[in-house]
Amino acid sequence: MPAQQTITNFVLLPELEIIKTERKGLSTNIYWCRKKKLQEYCPYCASGDYWTHEYRVITVKDAPIRGKEIILKIRKRRLRCKSCFKTFNEPINGILPKKRFTQRFKRGVLWACENYKNLKRVKKAFRCSNQFIYDSLYETLELNRRRNLNYAWPKTIGIDEHAFGRSVKSRRTRFCTMLVDFVNKRPFELVEGRSGPLLWKDLAHIPGRENVTHVALDLSDPYKKFVSEFFPNAEMVADKFHVLRLLNHHIMRRRKEITGDRASKQARDLLLMSNINLGWKERKTLWEYLDRYPELKEVYAFKESLHSLYRIRGYNKASKALTKLTDRMAKSNLKEIKTLRATLVKWRDEILNYFKTRITNARTEGFNHIAKLLKRNAFGFKSFPNYRLRVLNAAI
Ligand SMILES: [Zn+2]
Repeated sequence: MPAQQTITNFVLLPELEIIKTERKGLSTNIYWCRKKKLQEYCPYCASGDYWTHEYRVITVKDAPIRGKEIILKIRKRRLRCKSCFKTFNEPINGILPKKRFTQRFKRGVLWACENYKNLKRVKKAFRCSNQFIYDSLYETLELNRRRNLNYAWPKTIGIDEHAFGRSVKSRRTRFCTMLVDFVNKRPFELVEGRSGPLLWKDLAHIPGRENVTHVALDLSDPYKKFVSEFFPNAEMVADKFHVLRLLNHHIMRRRKEITGDRASKQARDLLLMSNINLGWKERKTLWEYLDRYPELKEVYAFKESLHSLYRIRGYNKASKALTKLTDRMAKSNLKEIKTLRATLVKWRDEILNYFKTRITNARTEGFNHIAKLLKRNAFGFKSFPNYRLRVLNAAI
């Protein structure tokens, strides 16, 4: 291919040839061009016999080159078919009918939407309207979702909620529920709201509910109720990290009640760490501190028992240990220990399922984090459908 031709192909589309170039200001190049005379066929009767009816100039936006806006002014032929006498436009590869931009321009915009810091920068670089960016981005994301996420429920899923923003009217925080496919490691569906009826409404159309055998969830009653009704064959697994965290804020509260001094600073910082990760010196500091506050010591001891429960291997051993732990808790007079005992008894089966399957909800929390970053980058989303598409496409 001669050099001239290569450059023409780079600047123009392969079927076009250049007539003249023009500059508009410092940052816009205008290329006047026409389509090469090729054999065309009538779209109505497929005849190849025609004459030229008229010429028209169309303005088309092309992908920018070295930061310069490229505008193609194409002198297009309108042809009249000799056999059916209808008129038709000559098609140009790379430009869809009735569109005023090339396909590579749109591709560039989509690439920039994913890789630029925010959509405002895309708008500046490609000099197109907000509407164009939004329309083409969300249209493509929806197509991608249909192509990639159009399958039945997987075997193992995780379910969790996160905040989506505030309602304009009531100023209340809006929540949404993320369902994660643990088999293919991707977000599976995002639903606005976290109550059973809302979840039923948005999830009932997905086939294969009976495929689901394991569901990881945190200790939330509405989700427990929903999962037990919606997935008939599923076993629930309570998330390990949520169980371990149950006593943390009680420890913090009790610690705040005690007036701190300089000497106890180190011990106070060690309270939330797992005892097994501490060195002997740190343990000594901690226990000396706890000896002075018996109630705090009791809460701390139960927190440590929970940690050691999760270090057990095997379902039967864990089951016995959990029974022992709840029996010990029954003897305690502290309010928070009673509450904890009630929770552990209520969620006993789900907690013990962890020792059979070793499934945690960590992956769901990870995708929640990605969703949070997306929200931050976009300075918040107003529309839930758009937010849903961004999240579902973020990790494919
Ligand atoms: Zn025809």
